[in-house]
Amino acid sequence: MKMSRFGCMKDQDGAYCFSKANLYSHERHSTMQKAPILSIPLILSAFAAVLIVLSFALTGWNDVTVPAVGEGSAEERFTCVVIDAGHGGEDGGAISANGLYEKDVNLAVAFALRDLLEMNGISVVMTRDEDVLLYDRNVDYRGRKKVLDLAARKTVADNCENCLFVSIHMNAFPQTQYSGTQVWYGTQNPLSESIAADIQKNALLLQPNNHRKIKAAGSSIYLLDNIRTPCVLVECGFLSNPEEAARLSDENYQQALAFMIFSSLSSYLG
Ligand SMILES: [Zn+2]
Repeated sequence: MKMSRFGCMKDQDGAYCFSKANLYSHERHSTMQKAPILSIPLILSAFAAVLIVLSFALTGWNDVTVPAVGEGSAEERFTCVVIDAGHGGEDGGAISANGLYEKDVNLAVAFALRDLLEMNGISVVMTRDEDVLLYDRNVDYRGRKKVLDLAARKTVADNCENCLFVSIHMNAFPQTQYSGTQVWYGTQNPLSESIAADIQKNALLLQPNNHRKIKAAGSSIYLLDNIRTPCVLVECGFLSNPEEAARLSDENYQQALAFMIFSSLSSYLG
């Protein structure tokens, strides 16, 4: 397994920056207890209203449409979501001009998404829930942190039955004009593309000028290429864009991103 498989890849739309050195051991993940099952349509409607208000407040968008929430017809229903907050610890991931680390935004969005899912009775497994690289200190990890990290994240997904896998990342590119959410999907499970498309579509609620298309992950994206369960990676936005970095640092916008992802997943969950 060559280290180059875990580096950054770029295309004409921007850059996809994956784990540089993020590690953790799967024993650190926490399996969340199920919350009492509430009225999902009611909660979704409430959060949709909140999101619309946030959309106005954050983007000034004046042509809001309500995202499709909880109305999907996916035949296969999943009872658990693995949320993978990219990077962590000594691996900060991308960084904004004013020092905002991707690892921190990833975790904030991951926590918000976790809370929404648990509120609706969906089990959640976090690959990491603190700012640390969770690799096994009992093995010789020198020069192998990236490999161990990604293997550990894959193990979490493999050990979770009936799960969807959602990885949260932030983007970066040398030119600062690029912005917007972009979703990647694994090709092993056909549902991955459908989920990615739903997230990309609903991202328009927050980013009406986002014309990005979903992209199939190749071998350069280890997790999506190797996880069998439906899996997507959400690049929520570009930390290299000062305006978008400012939004990404805002807790309300992080919550809105989490709701956008949650609403996109809802039709696949039961
Ligand atoms: Zn990343």
